[in-house]
Amino acid sequence: MQPLRGTRDILPDEIKLWQYIYNKANNLFSKNNYHEIQTPILENTELFKRSIGNFTDIVNKEMYSFNDQGKRNITLRPEGTASIARAFISNKLYLKKKINRLWYLGPMFRYERPQKGRQRQFHQLGVECIGSSIAMADTEVIKLATKMLQTLGCKEYILEINSIGNLEEREIYTINLIKYLNKYKNELDIDSTKRIENNPLRILDSKDYRTQEILKEGPKLKNYLKHESLKHFNEVCENLEYLNIKYTLNSNLVRGLDYYNYTAFEIKTKKLNHQNTICGGGRYDSLIKQLGGPDTPSVGWAIGLERVLMIIENNLIINNDNNIIYIATEINNNYYLVWDIINILEEYELKFDLDLSNKNLNKQLKKANQAKAKICFILHKEEIKNKYITIKWLKTSMQQTIYLSELRNYLKYLKNYITA
Ligand code: ATP
Ligand code: MG
Repeated sequence: MQPLRGTRDILPDEIKLWQYIYNKANNLFSKNNYHEIQTPILENTELFKRSIGNFTDIVNKEMYSFNDQGKRNITLRPEGTASIARAFISNKLYLKKKINRLWYLGPMFRYERPQKGRQRQFHQLGVECIGSSIAMADTEVIKLATKMLQTLGCKEYILEINSIGNLEEREIYTINLIKYLNKYKNELDIDSTKRIENNPLRILDSKDYRTQEILKEGPKLKNYLKHESLKHFNEVCENLEYLNIKYTLNSNLVRGLDYYNYTAFEIKTKKLNHQNTICGGGRYDSLIKQLGGPDTPSVGWAIGLERVLMIIENNLIINNDNNIIYIATEINNNYYLVWDIINILEEYELKFDLDLSNKNLNKQLKKANQAKAKICFILHKEEIKNKYITIKWLKTSMQQTIYLSELRNYLKYLKNYITA
């Protein structure tokens, strides 16, 4: 049996990396007053249609949607922001705080063609700064994104930013873009031709060479931005410059979701050729209102963790502390000493590994070495009968014997020694 296409198991060896990431994220975000939130993986399909937008790739062809037993149309969340906006509204988070700073980590689901860096179940780590319209909020979240990547040891990346203005500016621009592109309809790539009708802005980030050539001569979104939009964008750029956060302007960056306005940004790594966008985000001032909540300007991003892992995996030195106490026994139906020992080890919060193989003691000692244990408690029948323990230090083969009644005292000394 195989897992579903585009999904995979994260095995115990790898889970260490995920725990590491979670801990680093938790640490960084709590210091910055961001609080973790978990929302359900299942939501009404309507939520994503209304927020991400009907004509986006995600809603159009990538959603895992189905009817449940009660004939409700349900979708496995393809991203985090829509769910968090929904949670913000349903839990009336706006009543408690003016600004809600939230972060999340969890699986997302998109029905895409699986390939390197693209799965059907993948994980995003994200933040949302909900309730502020000022450029400092945009800067704060961008700063956090770069900080998070650095913390994870991902240092070679490019931050691209753009302003996509407000709805009105975009509408006027879009009309002009369509007018222009219609003249070249036969020369555009197939996807872009389709997009003229239902999502013309997305044509801007087409990867097709000829399409990009045509766009070069076409109308530019930034020329349609008015004072307010430009001012906001300039402020974000100035803040970033002050913080020495390097960025490049990419006037074709539009992002694939409908709810963005003003700032849009992406972080790309130089280390991957394909699927090299590791973070995407932007401002979404109208989303919460549009979903029935109060007018709440917000900004956030999501990092694709599988892609980050592909870059950092080899550099991360996760402390594989093998301070294990291996317990090798000749039990012979007399378990009690073993349980007494284990209870005491737990009391001292020491890591142990009880051999359950029922093999002879030599074989068990071999396994202790394989497990890279520091010490092994050896319990022959003799020891079990007389309640004492033979302790073997595996590196030096030094052996000593203590009575169970002395174990606590021994562990007091041992704990300092092996965790040093
Ligand atoms: P792409 O252009 O690669 O399809 P996107 O614009 O659809 O990305 P977003 O919706 O912005 O992606 O999601 C933020 C991040 O989540 C992406 O930059 C990427 O790192 C990650 N991501 C998105 N889709 C997948 C996927 N199918 N598998 C793995 N990671 C993904
Ligand atoms: Mg995508």
